Amino acid sequence: MFFGKDPRGEAIVEMAMKQVKKMLIDMQKEGKDLTRLKLKKFQKTHYTSCACPKCVEAKRKNNPHLRGLLEEGFKVYVGEGEGEDE
Ligand SMILES: [Zn+2]
Repeated sequence: MFFGKDPRGEAIVEMAMKQVKKMLIDMQKEGKDLTRLKLKKFQKTHYTSCACPKCVEAKRKNNPHLRGLLEEGFKVYVGEGEGEDE
């Protein structure tokens, strides 16, 4: 599974899945078209002015993927769009 054999990890995944399921059911009740459901990973990195070691390294290697992370996760949404990109 997602977290290998860590039982805590599996419990977290299970809890998260229940919450996602509940949200999706709520959306369906609101009349949202879940056949257009999409999942997308996203990462929010530190600001461009940040000078923490990770961001400095990213700048040095000219690789924005190495920047420090503020948030990381995924979006679940319905619709035609691709979601807003940062
Ligand atoms: Zn940073």
